[in-house]
Amino acid sequence: MAASQYFKREAIFLNGSWRQANSNKSIDVFNPANGQKIGYVPNAGEEETREVVKAAKLAFEDFRKTTALERANILRKLHDEIMQNQEALAELLTLEQGKPLAEARAEISIAASYLLWFAEEARRVFGDLIPSPHSGQKLMVSKQPIGVVAAITPWNFPFSMIARKVGPAIAAGCSVIVKPSELTPFSGLAWGVIAEDIGLPNGVINIITGEAEAIGHVLTRHLDVRKLTFTGSTRVGKQLLEKSASTVKKISMELGGNAPFIVFEDADLDKAVEGAIAAKYRNSGQTCICTNRFYVHASIYDDFVENFTKETKKLKVGNGFDLDITQGPLINEVAIEKAKRFVEDAKQKGGVILTGGKPYLHSLETGYFFEPTVIANATKDMLFSKEEIFAPIAPIYKFESEAEVIALANDTDYGLAAYFYTQNLGRSFRVSDALDYGMIGVNAAMLTKVEAPFGGVKASGLGKEGGSQGIDEYLESKYICLGGLEA
Ligand code: ADP
Repeated sequence: MAASQYFKREAIFLNGSWRQANSNKSIDVFNPANGQKIGYVPNAGEEETREVVKAAKLAFEDFRKTTALERANILRKLHDEIMQNQEALAELLTLEQGKPLAEARAEISIAASYLLWFAEEARRVFGDLIPSPHSGQKLMVSKQPIGVVAAITPWNFPFSMIARKVGPAIAAGCSVIVKPSELTPFSGLAWGVIAEDIGLPNGVINIITGEAEAIGHVLTRHLDVRKLTFTGSTRVGKQLLEKSASTVKKISMELGGNAPFIVFEDADLDKAVEGAIAAKYRNSGQTCICTNRFYVHASIYDDFVENFTKETKKLKVGNGFDLDITQGPLINEVAIEKAKRFVEDAKQKGGVILTGGKPYLHSLETGYFFEPTVIANATKDMLFSKEEIFAPIAPIYKFESEAEVIALANDTDYGLAAYFYTQNLGRSFRVSDALDYGMIGVNAAMLTKVEAPFGGVKASGLGKEGGSQGIDEYLESKYICLGGLEA
């Protein structure tokens, strides 16, 4: 743990310096596995945010002049620094977020992979040369960095969500202000340490913690912030969109999900169960692409439910630092209360709890654990058919036909990820086309790849992260009409 202390900073990182909030106020940070205070971070507000925007703007003026190759090299250095410190960063992550250390290591590693991917993409930001309808002219389009980027990030992937935003921003030549979640700020502040250690110019990466609303207020209303990228709840995303309207910024948003997971009668049942466990219980059900609704064909319903429940019972709940555990705690008391409410509601409406169903050793001293829970006979009047669960609760619904299940799966405001299992080729294409989601897993439960565009439709968000599309969010096209070329 000693190495992780090196990355744990109880200060904000503004223009290359570490400092406290102007008010000297702070926010305490707790370990969700035992409720113990692990430190504090500055409670900064509007004043500091205005300062940081000014610094980021100044830094941008120089940084935009760097070459793509220089920026690619910076990203490679960031990648290497992160991977050399993978264990320490993973420990810090588990300490404040609770996830199993193995998952934390994987998060650090995928974060570094995003940086490597965008190091490669940085050098492929091509423009266009368009045939002109008039003689003596060339029409050119070049791509330019958009300017100062504000990135507001959540607690469920406190390290990698920053990589997905900082990576393309730096690749494009932008400076960034990151506001991590107050629940898991240390993994965000660690980016300041990493930036310092690789000698990144001051003001290119800034990390601010504090009053979310006050910081968000300045970031959305400030004309010098040209791009806002947000990952979090649909509720807050909508507020930020509204607030940003006055300054007409470029926006990308990764918001909530309500992922269906469909098991057709022609699925490979063992593979479907294996995928179902992965798509439900990663990060204790606290990912925006976690399955929210399992739909299983009536002819295989009982078999699936039996096997899935058997596998669920094998999961081990506990402190993320204990070696054999697979399920860490939920993030806080509110999450536990929400999970309890979902189970109670389902019970009242005829749901059958096959395993789990309640907090596990839950109290402030013992951590916010919840038992992995399987609920059979789920119906669409239950609360979790419309709301995002964000807990290890797996409701299983029964369906009879392909058309019926497509309608059920699409019957939500959200459209982030959807999964289905089938061995029928025609059905693979048909159902992929019919599902109103930004990402589809066909016989695949782990969707996130740096090479592919991550993002949703409908209330799940705007824009894509990763893939070749990811950098576009940080670029502006500039059209140049070059005339007078006649002899
Ligand atoms: P969750 O429900 O998953 O905690 P939130 O949307 O509340 O998601 O939080 C995601 C991020 O948005 C966090 O960094 C949080 O501090 C920030 N946030 C919350 N409310 C606001 C707000 N009003 N303005 C700006 N940022 C906010």
